[in-house]
Amino acid sequence: MSKKYLIVGAGFSGAVLAHQLCKLVDCTVEIWDERNHIGGNCHTKRDAETGVMVHEYGPHIFNTDKKEIWDFVNSFVEFKPFINRVKANHKGAIYSLPVNLHTINQFFNKSFGPAEAKAFIEGQADKSIDEPKSFEEQAMKFIGKDLYKAFFYGYTKKQWGCEPSELPASILKRLPVRFNYDDNYYNNPYQGIPVNGYTELVEKLLGSYSIMVSLNTKFEFSPDLFNTYDHIFYTGPIDAFFNYKFGRLGYRTVTFEKHVANGDYQGNPVINYCDDTVPYTRVHEHKHFAPWEKHEQTVYFKEFSKETEPTDIPYYPKRLEQDKAILLQYRNEATQSEKISFLGRLATYRYMDMHHVIGEALDFANAFAAAETAGTPLPVFPNVEG
Ligand code: UDP
Repeated sequence: MSKKYLIVGAGFSGAVLAHQLCKLVDCTVEIWDERNHIGGNCHTKRDAETGVMVHEYGPHIFNTDKKEIWDFVNSFVEFKPFINRVKANHKGAIYSLPVNLHTINQFFNKSFGPAEAKAFIEGQADKSIDEPKSFEEQAMKFIGKDLYKAFFYGYTKKQWGCEPSELPASILKRLPVRFNYDDNYYNNPYQGIPVNGYTELVEKLLGSYSIMVSLNTKFEFSPDLFNTYDHIFYTGPIDAFFNYKFGRLGYRTVTFEKHVANGDYQGNPVINYCDDTVPYTRVHEHKHFAPWEKHEQTVYFKEFSKETEPTDIPYYPKRLEQDKAILLQYRNEATQSEKISFLGRLATYRYMDMHHVIGEALDFANAFAAAETAGTPLPVFPNVEG
């Protein structure tokens, strides 16, 4: 008999899951989202004033090392190649990011070659740190105090609202350090931006089967839902699902100050402001994310970071020690349920890029479909550590 599934959240997790379940299982799928659009934080929309395609929740540049994920997203919409080259403003001077030979030579006023720069930076590094346990230790071990203070300390304090010594080393490990002039922000071989934005990609994912999407529809769990649905997939914040009974998980949220101008405002998609004397973290100018388009006017946003209040949209999971203790309680409670699964950045409370989210949703749908077919216990979480 055909199954009836409810998916909560129409971001990439929910949309990929819906698509894949329809492909693999005899089922009908409904998706609810409390916002008035699909795509979650990847939503893109043309700005009415300038005509520029805006990444409404901040810059999203698709990058992955997995050909199958790249092929998957490219099978729905056209992507144009896009290499993210980020600049940094420190004390009014502009540097190249991620930290590379240009940054090192400019910052220390040198003209090192790669081997000299490597030896110099190793000389700056704190050798007493064996296994870095925090963001700060990771920085001190790999780039040394001067570059850390200039490019990471102030930015990270603004972005995360705490001392970098309280944050996990994994946050800094996202960024490469290079001893050549390669200023590609990512290491992944497949990089691009969908030519018509991300929302079209999500539309196509949802449109290939008769998936029913209900927007402006807030979810609240009730056992009565199982009178209608065989299984619920929840991709919202896990603490919200349980009405915050063990407390709220810490998230940072970001707000944007919009500006419109003529011509080209900053000449680059993203400029980071690394000093904590500047209140915003970065400025993004969105027409530079679509260099294949021409616009007379420009729209740019100053991005500010703050602690998430109950009415704010959660962005970055902080995962401080106290958060991990609360998360464990929610995960233990969640694993008691046989008919509810939890998936994605918010339901697993992890810092995930788009390609992680998509890959995990594909794998999860495959595992779920296999269990459904075999009649074995259905997976509650993706197969990853809490
Ligand atoms: N970061 C920094 N200075 C920069 C860029 C990044 O200190 O100029 C730190 C910051 O803590 C950030 C982390 O490195 O959260 C990872 O950077 P990434 O660009 O991956 O952050 P995202 O794009 O997810 O905001």
